[in-house]
Amino acid sequence: MRPTEDSYRHKGLRKALVEQIRSKGITDESVLQAMMAVPRHFFLDSAFDNVAYEDRAFPIAEGQTISHPYTVAYQSQLLQVKPFMRVLEIGTGSAFQACVLAEMKAMVFSIERQKQLFDDNRNFPFLRNYPSMRLFFGDGFQGLPTYGPFDRVLVTAGAPGIPEKLVEQLKPGGIMVIPVNDGDAQRMMRLTRRQDGGIEEERFDTFNFVPMLEGKR
Ligand code: SAH
Repeated sequence: MRPTEDSYRHKGLRKALVEQIRSKGITDESVLQAMMAVPRHFFLDSAFDNVAYEDRAFPIAEGQTISHPYTVAYQSQLLQVKPFMRVLEIGTGSAFQACVLAEMKAMVFSIERQKQLFDDNRNFPFLRNYPSMRLFFGDGFQGLPTYGPFDRVLVTAGAPGIPEKLVEQLKPGGIMVIPVNDGDAQRMMRLTRRQDGGIEEERFDTFNFVPMLEGKR
């Protein structure tokens, strides 16, 4: 069962988590504000209620995870989201990251390849707070050509490489943030599509994500 009450205790724990994330180097106030606005314990079974505001990843259904809060903040900061941007997310999972982007006033389009997780989110009342958020069941390697191009693309699973179709769906000036396999971990990469069509690549820290897999399940 999901908890539905956001108590003063939860808000206090959330505030402490946001300060912890700030002290680890996240400086973008719009990201920190969004992290403060989304009750992370709503995204986990009530069994995790006491630990939902620790900076840890947790299991959700189908062997998948809700990412570390720090990782969500890190990716959101690199993405440089501005209000009304069209943002494509690969790997809806718990939908926590999607809600953080929606709190930053992005128009979120998020794809999940696991039917069970997609269905769970369709029955998740909290998501009705974000009427512009659209969730899709499909293979993220394909992107959403009919809804693109996008200002931003965010991949939240460990990718074997940079999926060409996702690059094609980026607007000129658009940014993609994607963790790419590098040995046993993933290297966080940021790709910027220049106005002349060229691609600029930047490398950041390493993280551990569940794998980005082909096809639907
Ligand atoms: N953004 C999520 C992170 C979930 S973990 C959150 O905030 O909770 C990554 C998710 O990516 C998993 O749910 C996994 O099923 C999904 N995934 C992996 N490969 C995918 C693909 N090719 N297309 C869409 N989703 C994918």
